[in-house]
Parts: sequence; structure tokens; C-alpha cells
Amino acid sequence: MAAKRVAVVGAGIAGLGAAWRLAQRGFQVSLFEREQLPGGRARPVVRENFTIERAGAIVGTADKALLSWIGELDLPELLPLRPVVRALAHRDRVQVIDPRSLLGIARIPGVRIHQLLGLLRLPRLVARYGNRIDPERPERAASLDDRSLADFGRLYFGARVTQHWMGPLVSRTSLADAREVSRVLFLHHYRDGAGERLGLLRSSSQELMDRAASSVPAALGVCVANVESCSGGGVRFRVRGAERERLAEADAIVLAVPAPEAVALAGAEFSFAERDALEKVRYTPEISLAVALRRPFHSHPQQIQFPQREGWPLESVLLEPGFEGGRVPKGRGLALLRATGRWSADYFEAPDETVGKELIAALSGIFPRIHGAGIFAEVLREKRAVPRFDVGRYRAIADFTRVQADCRRRGRRIYFAGDYLMGPGWNAALRSGYRAAADVAVDLG
Ligand SMILES: Cc1cc2nc3c(=O)[nH]c(=O)nc-3n(C[C@H](O)[C@H](O)[C@H](O)COP(=O)(O)OP(=O)(O)OC[C@H]3O[C@@H](n4cnc5c(N)ncnc54)[C@H](O)[C@@H]3O)c2cc1C
Repeated sequence: MAAKRVAVVGAGIAGLGAAWRLAQRGFQVSLFEREQLPGGRARPVVRENFTIERAGAIVGTADKALLSWIGELDLPELLPLRPVVRALAHRDRVQVIDPRSLLGIARIPGVRIHQLLGLLRLPRLVARYGNRIDPERPERAASLDDRSLADFGRLYFGARVTQHWMGPLVSRTSLADAREVSRVLFLHHYRDGAGERLGLLRSSSQELMDRAASSVPAALGVCVANVESCSGGGVRFRVRGAERERLAEADAIVLAVPAPEAVALAGAEFSFAERDALEKVRYTPEISLAVALRRPFHSHPQQIQFPQREGWPLESVLLEPGFEGGRVPKGRGLALLRATGRWSADYFEAPDETVGKELIAALSGIFPRIHGAGIFAEVLREKRAVPRFDVGRYRAIADFTRVQADCRRRGRRIYFAGDYLMGPGWNAALRSGYRAAADVAVDLG
């Protein structure tokens, strides 16, 4: 029997993961990407021999799907991860922390040791929620999606624990504010990531994207539009390259693009409920400032997070020393200053100079030597950096999943992948791609 044809739109992490999984399962895959390089929002930027990873290329040992994918793609130059020392800035001092155990959390500066008693309830609480906390099936958490992380933290553990540990734990991937983000995102992080260690990929994540894209037939610089279902089954869509435009057909299509772009691509095919759900997905903007350093500040990578407080601009700073074959030239260093989601929204239109000044001024409280240490600085902005998982998002995912299942039963062969469906971040984006591939495999047999 001829292999079934599946088109995947978007070569971000989700699309690359879906295409790779589908090819492994024997489907005839075509991957379309409108940019000239794969990687989507995760794609790094190269300036003067420095490779700047927008997300810092920090991977946790809990990011199991991502780590095993790197292994399967046979990229030994990226692994093992370079261990990252974790620290928290508290009262203008940087203190190394080890939040991998409850005792380690109780020792975080700002948290009081007596709060350990409250924290002892956490594993029991999580056990009680059972399989509703399953990052692979976020829709199962709908009934827990009733309060913000700040409310949940205050109720069970105290405001200080929320500010100094729970908030920073969640904001590392989501940039979210504890007052808005759903407690479910924290529960996912805690269940998956308790005891995890953080590390840096050894070289550019572009190697990962390139290798994944080259493992399937990928058309780069090609935009897909007007996806519609065919009356006899399958889908038809328009493919626009630099030189020509054509109509193409496939037995199924995976839309691995951010939610608003999925609506633009195939909106006419969606039910009212689906369109509504996709249009309601909100994104947090991100501003970061990469400062190339003449000399590294440390001999090892270090990530410093900041407690969440009103008006404070920095979410974290990643200090990366250079080494042979790495992203940063040997003998040099890189400081990646990430602003909080709220500050990024407020300053999104501000000139580079203002952004640079504000972020450097905030950092200079703990690192006065940042002044005059830079070779160059680069401001990076992304309007739709990370999807928001505010209270209500998991209920929306549950509704969306139900409608999806219904459309699949009726024979529609349009599938969705992307980090707005599972959780923010590389690992979740990849898993959403795998999930879409598994659904296609079930339906096309
Ligand atoms: C500044 C920034 C900071 C981040 N910080 C972190 C972090 O700290 N930790 C973390 O884990 N994650 C972080 N992320 C998030 C991470 O990069 C995303 O989770 C991931 O890239 C999402 O992948 P995706 O495949 O869902 O979508 P995308 O990466 O957006 O990929 C979608 C792709 O589809 C393509 N496309 C869209 N429409 C079409 C079309 N019509 N035809 C053809 N191609 C199309 C786009 O060009 C794009 O390449 C950050 C992202 C940014 C931008």
C-alpha cells in the first residue's frame, strides 16, 4: 500500500517533532516552513561570533522528550548538558540555591524555615490530584484550573514561598506573573520537575533544528495558505514559494503554528468553538538583552532568578562563559538578561537605548562590574514569545480537545501542534508535535 501523505506546516519545535515522528511511522511527510531556516521562535541569533539563544538553551533533566529526541537525532555535540548553577538575587546579593528538595526550598533566601511545615503538604496534595496532573494530557487538569498560583500559594504555603520559589519556578519557562498564571502550570512543573537539574546545551540549538529538518523532506522559504478539506477525504492547500504558487493535496495536515496563524491558515474549516478557542490564546511578549562580555563573570554557567515584585524588570540573568566549540567564543562571556512578561509588555515599544539602560541599571545592583564589561549589546524582542497559561486556559484546552475529537470522528483531517496546547517551552512544544503525530497515525491507520 502506498504510504499516506501528511503535510506539516511550520518547522518550529512542534512541527519538527511531528514531522519526525510521522516519518518514523512510515508516513510520506512534507514539511513546509516560510522562513529560510527551521526553528521558529526557538531559532538563535548570531552576532560577531556569539550565538545568542533567545531562551538561553537551558534544558532541565525533566525535559525528557527533548533530551531523548536529541539522542535519537544523534547529536553528541549538544549533550551531556553543561550544569547550570542556580541562584536567587535577594536584597542585592546573589545566593546559590538548590531547590531540588523541600529542605532546599526552605533554605531559599526569603523563605522562612518554619514554612517547611506547609511545604511538607505539597507531595500529599499532588498525590491527591493523581493523574489529573499529566502534562501529556493537559485537559485532565480542567477541574483544578480554578485559581491562580498566587492564591494557591498564599492559601497553602505563604506569600513568601510563592514569591521566592513558586513564582520563579514557573516564570523560568512561561515569564508568567503568579497573580495570573493558573496553579496547574505550577503543579505540572512540580510533578515533572521536582529534583530536576538544569543544564545548557553544549552548542547552538540551530544544530538540533537543522538536523531534525534534514531528516524529513522539508521545503524552506515556502508559505502555506488556504487549507480546506476535500470532499473525498484529505485536505487541499496552497503552497507559495519564491517563484511559484501551486495547489497541493495530502491525506492529513498538521498545523504546527501559533494559534492566531492557524486561524489565518484554515479558519474557514473550523467550527465556531474552535475558532473562538484559538482566537482566545494569548501570548506574553519578551524583551531580552544579550551583553557580550570581554571576560566571563564565572567559570561555570549560572542562572540568577529574581523574586517577583511589582515594577521589577528582570526575570532572570543567565551568565555563560565561552569555551572551545560552544556558543560563546573561548575567553569571552555572555550575559542574557530576560525581562519579566509584564515589563516586556510595558516597554515593548520603547527604544533599544531605554531598554538597555533600564535592564543594565537593574542588574548593576548585584553586578556593578557589568558597566564597561560589554563588547556589544543586542536587544531582542518577540511580540508573541510564550503562550499564556492563565486561570481558565486548561478548561479551554479541555473544550478544544473535545471539539477536536468530534471533528476527527466526522473525518476532518486537520490536526494542531504548538506550545499553546501543552505548556510553554521547547519540551512541551515537542510533545504537542508527538501528540498530533499519534492522532494522525490512529486516524489514518
Ligand atoms: C524570546 C523567547 C523566549 C523564550 N523563552 C523560552 C524559555 O526560556 N524556555 C523554553 O523552553 N521556551 C522558551 N521560548 C519558547 C519556545 O521558543 C517555544 O515554546 C517554541 O519555539 C514553540 O514552538 P512551536 O513549534 O510551537 O512554534 P514556533 O516556534 O512559533 O514555530 C512555528 C513555525 O511556523 C512557521 N509558519 C507560520 N505560519 C506559516 C505558514 N503559513 N506557512 C509556513 N510556515 C509557517 C513559522 O515561521 C515558524 O517557524 C521562548 C521563545 C521566545 C521567542
